[in-house]
Amino acid sequence: MTATILDGRATAKTLRGEINDAVAEFKEKTGVTPTIAVVRAGEDPGSVWYANAIKKTMTKRGMEAQLHVLPETAPQEKLVALVSKLSADPNIHGIMVQEPMPKGIDEGAVKAALSPDKDVDGVHEVNAGRLTMVAPAGRPEGVGPFFTPATPAGGMEILRRHGVELSGKHAVVVGRSNIVGKPMALMMMRENATVTMCHSRTADLAAVCRQADILCAAVGRPEMIRGDWIKPGAVVIDFGVNDVEGKMVGDVAYDEAVEVAGMITPVPGGTGPMTNIMLVKNVLEAARRQVTK
Ligand code: NDP
Repeated sequence: MTATILDGRATAKTLRGEINDAVAEFKEKTGVTPTIAVVRAGEDPGSVWYANAIKKTMTKRGMEAQLHVLPETAPQEKLVALVSKLSADPNIHGIMVQEPMPKGIDEGAVKAALSPDKDVDGVHEVNAGRLTMVAPAGRPEGVGPFFTPATPAGGMEILRRHGVELSGKHAVVVGRSNIVGKPMALMMMRENATVTMCHSRTADLAAVCRQADILCAAVGRPEMIRGDWIKPGAVVIDFGVNDVEGKMVGDVAYDEAVEVAGMITPVPGGTGPMTNIMLVKNVLEAARRQVTK
């Protein structure tokens, strides 16, 4: 069997078109330009690249992105003060504080300074907490509005747009970070999947993965998940981004997996292209919530 490719580039393109229309309509109705402030300290190359990519995606949709860059040596109080100021600014609808933050900065203190209403990457405790507490799909939500991290939200969007049914399925997530693995697991559980979360201490990881109808990899280890870890016909979502001698590879051994899986995201061109546009979607949603309050 050769798997159907879950094309993240094509899915992101469709989503960009939808957001173009939604932004135009919002601006026409309210006269407000949805705006994100991207904050970082230092010049981590990945963060510089991502900030520029966000700016490009935002401006192409008629939205605005402000980049606020402090020196790597900036004291924590400065970073906290900047985030607090932006949180109180009515012209800013979304804020993203880029990681990694420089050594010596307490990331928790910086995130706590974020307004949960502007936390478009879902890193504030309020947003993470509401995702944990929200009722399963189809029941009254029971919590206030919240944002989820863009990367797993993109994975969910790929599943939804390709008609992958989650209810009653066994989903296995390898990786339990707060920005990818854990929220992905919670979002799939909300859609009534039975979820197993794996991590570096999981015993016989291969055997657990083989039980998965939907297998999500968010590990950061190149091609760790082999073809014979995959149940024939399973859906594989690979969040991994690893540089191996200048070539980008996922956490799944794609050439092996594609022969076994029913559906699979490639790397590059799978979950990656979705992240940025999901963040932008959240900025529009944040602006909507703040302007129509
Ligand atoms: P983290 O390093 O924060 O988390 C990695 C997770 O993998 C941890 O839970 C860790 O377990 C687990 N892990 C590590 N080694 C093993 C192992 N041998 N067996 C089982 N589990 C293991 O990574 P992130 O969640 O931030 O990122 C995961 C991947 O997703 C990376 O490749 C990253 O580059 C990529 N990424 C992709 C994005 C995109 O846009 N597509 C955006 C963000 C990240 P433990 O908790 O026990 O330490």
